[in-house]
Amino acid sequence: MCTLNQEKDAIEIQRLPVNSEEQVFHDWTIKYTKSHILHSICSSSEKCKDPASQCLLCVYTNTLELPHLPEMVFPNNKLILKHNSGAWIEFNALDALKKVCNGKQNLKVACSEEWKETRAPENLMEKIKPFDWTFSSDYRGTVSDIAVVTPTEERINIEKLKEKEKILFYQELMLYEDELHDNGISSCTIKIVSYIFHSSHCYARKFTK
Ligand SMILES: [Zn+2]
Repeated sequence: MCTLNQEKDAIEIQRLPVNSEEQVFHDWTIKYTKSHILHSICSSSEKCKDPASQCLLCVYTNTLELPHLPEMVFPNNKLILKHNSGAWIEFNALDALKKVCNGKQNLKVACSEEWKETRAPENLMEKIKPFDWTFSSDYRGTVSDIAVVTPTEERINIEKLKEKEKILFYQELMLYEDELHDNGISSCTIKIVSYIFHSSHCYARKFTK
């Protein structure tokens, strides 16, 4: 039989996964939420006729002008960094996918023509625009109205990053992923690392192979 203290230690060691967390770091509050994948079928088509009560799938399909969505989309995976001034920057899948080029790039996966051929030609011209099959996005976050984004010559201090410092907070969030019909992989992820003393870094990573 184990003692109460042993039980307590066991609970602390096996920290259960959480779906949201919030950390205050100097003038910033860093918060993330995580949840399940976007469902692939609209289960409330009647309700979804009203834009105000659409399901998440309908919000995505109606907002984005994409012929199809990535295989995996995580609509509730969000990271928000709020400054004490009230300004904030958020990272979410919908805004990242809004930046996917439609008909502006020549990148194609081998099966894109095949896929088009399976669609009725009468629908093709109107409903399907050529688009970036790799879901490339130069998304750099969604900023609040009161935040001002200015260009900078400042660069990340790589030497500082090499210093071994205790990590206070780390989280990686998948926004979306697609296997390009088995021709590779394309994903968009957000990583946040806060070090105990000097800094916090946030990375938006778009990966395609
Ligand atoms: Zn719906």
